[in-house]
Amino acid sequence: METIIDIYGKKHKVGCLGCDLRKGKTPGAGVVLSTKHFEVEQDTEIPIPAFMIVVSRRHLKGFGDLTRPEQREFIDVLAKVRKAMEKVLGIKVVYIFQNEDSSSHFHVWMFPRFKWMDKFGNKIESVRPIMEYARKKMKTKKILGEVASARDKLKKYL
Ligand SMILES: [Zn+2]
Repeated sequence: METIIDIYGKKHKVGCLGCDLRKGKTPGAGVVLSTKHFEVEQDTEIPIPAFMIVVSRRHLKGFGDLTRPEQREFIDVLAKVRKAMEKVLGIKVVYIFQNEDSSSHFHVWMFPRFKWMDKFGNKIESVRPIMEYARKKMKTKKILGEVASARDKLKKYL
């Protein structure tokens, strides 16, 4: 068991976060797209608008474990969400990561770049400081409102 603190400041004890969110054991920050093999949702712990996570419904570790139907659906989901981020929210740059050692449950980060992030630098080395800043300083009413609004717009479009 691990303890996480969600974007609203609430603590949750989780076994596998990916599985607990799928089963509704842990309330998430909102699903924007639900398909046969995947769900796409606002990140539970980091309050950055449109920071989306693609999670497999099955508990699996990495791309090597995806079945053919999952592989095909995955690329459709990723492309669809990426297009929606641009079309609905005007997001021009997105970083996409999958870290096999960050959790035992397959999930892909779709991390949007915003102008305010420039002071943390660019590229992969800027991501951790941006996330730490967001975790510590951005759980405000205003920003949580922006997170919810981005999520709802994406959901409506998708
Ligand atoms: Zn799992």
